[in-house]
Amino acid sequence: MFASLRAFPNRLRASVRRGLQGPEALAFLPAIALAAFWLGGESLLLVVALGTPVLFLLAGLPGSSASDRPRGDQSDIVDSLAAARLVQQALDRAQAANLATACMVIEIDGLEEIARQADDPTVDNLRELTLDRLRKTLRRDDMAVRFGENRYLVLLAPSLRLDLEALLQLAGRLQNAIEEPTPVDQTMRYLSASIGFCGSLRLRNEATGKQLIEAAQIALDDATAKGPSTIRAWSENMRQTHIEQKNLRNEVDRALSNGQIQPWFQPQICTSTGAISGVEALARWIHPERGIVPPAQFLRVLEDAGRMTHLSEVILQHSLTALRSWDQSGLDIPRVSVNFSDPELRDPRLVERIQWELDRFGLTAERLGIEVLETVIAGAPEGIVARNIVELGRIGCHIDLDDFGTGHASITSLRRFKVHRLKIDRSFVTRVDRDEEQHRMLAAVLGMADRLGLETIAEGVESVGEHALLSQLGCDHVQGFGIARPMPADNLVDWAHGHEARIAEAQRLGRGTA
Ligand code: C2E
Ligand code: CA
Ligand code: CA
Repeated sequence: MFASLRAFPNRLRASVRRGLQGPEALAFLPAIALAAFWLGGESLLLVVALGTPVLFLLAGLPGSSASDRPRGDQSDIVDSLAAARLVQQALDRAQAANLATACMVIEIDGLEEIARQADDPTVDNLRELTLDRLRKTLRRDDMAVRFGENRYLVLLAPSLRLDLEALLQLAGRLQNAIEEPTPVDQTMRYLSASIGFCGSLRLRNEATGKQLIEAAQIALDDATAKGPSTIRAWSENMRQTHIEQKNLRNEVDRALSNGQIQPWFQPQICTSTGAISGVEALARWIHPERGIVPPAQFLRVLEDAGRMTHLSEVILQHSLTALRSWDQSGLDIPRVSVNFSDPELRDPRLVERIQWELDRFGLTAERLGIEVLETVIAGAPEGIVARNIVELGRIGCHIDLDDFGTGHASITSLRRFKVHRLKIDRSFVTRVDRDEEQHRMLAAVLGMADRLGLETIAEGVESVGEHALLSQLGCDHVQGFGIARPMPADNLVDWAHGHEARIAEAQRLGRGTA
């Protein structure tokens, strides 16, 4: 009750502003006065006359402070077109008065991550709060609006003194304002912000509003790539790098569509029998000039371009085609495991798509392994990613927890996601046969997996010594350069035949010496 009374002036202010805005409101004044005189004579006219300034005072007209606009006001959010128009107007005004302006684009680091974990009202509150803080830090004639979902656009009023030093200082103040810790919905929030900016003096005279925003966005991309809480001023070099990145993005996209990106396969071996227990599909770009390009050089580009779902479709199709062709050539490859990153696991149609592909190839779900990073499982207690992993396990796919030991997956989540196998990260495997500490760590991990009834596979096994010790410690499977490097599907046929022959020979020799 008291809370709603306290909110009354705000509501009145908001509704007055929504109903009567700026100069239009003044146009209604004579009509209001006439109506008051007609309805109640001079006394009502007097009340209206006295009340009107109070109403306008509450409404904050004219020139209300931007920071106390009603929440969720649509004019607080602009798209690229509206933003370019605003910046163009500022540029025109600045040029007419022989002054400078500047544009800043700000992003709250990790807001998407927070949005995944917190509920919508909390995220909305954080977005509003940030806008409020920006507006309170800026001067009256400057402007701050939300620019799409997670960004903010700050536009500085034309001024004489907008050199690099002044802009850096202002960007620092805006960043400090956003990063001030705040309790939101009973939780203390520590936000950090990255800022990219460009002053109009840095661009050519005929530069447009669109170009000034783009320059600030390029600077922001550079800032976010350098890490959280970073500020970057636009420079000509950045434009060059940006163009190269864009070209690379287009090239990778074409490579995905024309079959230049495909999986190579690395064998996994059962330590007790020596037989092939599966293969891991690892993406390779077979580049006509640059040769074999590893995923480290193009995954990020695909991720930034939002093309990971396309990658997973391509890798899955090639992997199932390869598995069926190995079956047809009489090889015994029980399973192909495919890596699924966080964005790929966000696809709401993922399970349906995988089931459809398995049916199309006539393969059962247990022939497909899904490698999910431990960090993804640890950070996905609820939501679409969790649902997809659980559902993939339910239809029969094997779930491998990749890079195990580098994340913080709880034992509860191992159970909940029906993890089948722990894939022990290479950092625990390297030199395990020569390093006492490594040995102890690995033995502890294997002991825990054993007690939880989980299978284990060690990755990055490079030497015979590591392989032997892992077998001794009871690790179920091994994979690494020491056994075989990733290879094209066709080469795997020869490699598998050779491997079978080597095992048969070893068994024959073993029996001979026994
Ligand atoms: P990962 O899933 O941990 O894959 C293992 C990486 O270690 C592979 O690198 C593999 O070639 C390499 N490797 C295997 N054995 C050894 C060894 O004995 N020593 C050393 N030093 N390295 C070894 P690659 O193929 O460059 O892949 C790097 C990462 O890229 C993968 O790490 C995975 O996270 C990601 N990736 C690869 N293919 C795909 C894909 O199709 N989809 C997705 N989402 N991610 C992929
Ligand atoms: Ca993997
Ligand atoms: Ca791994």
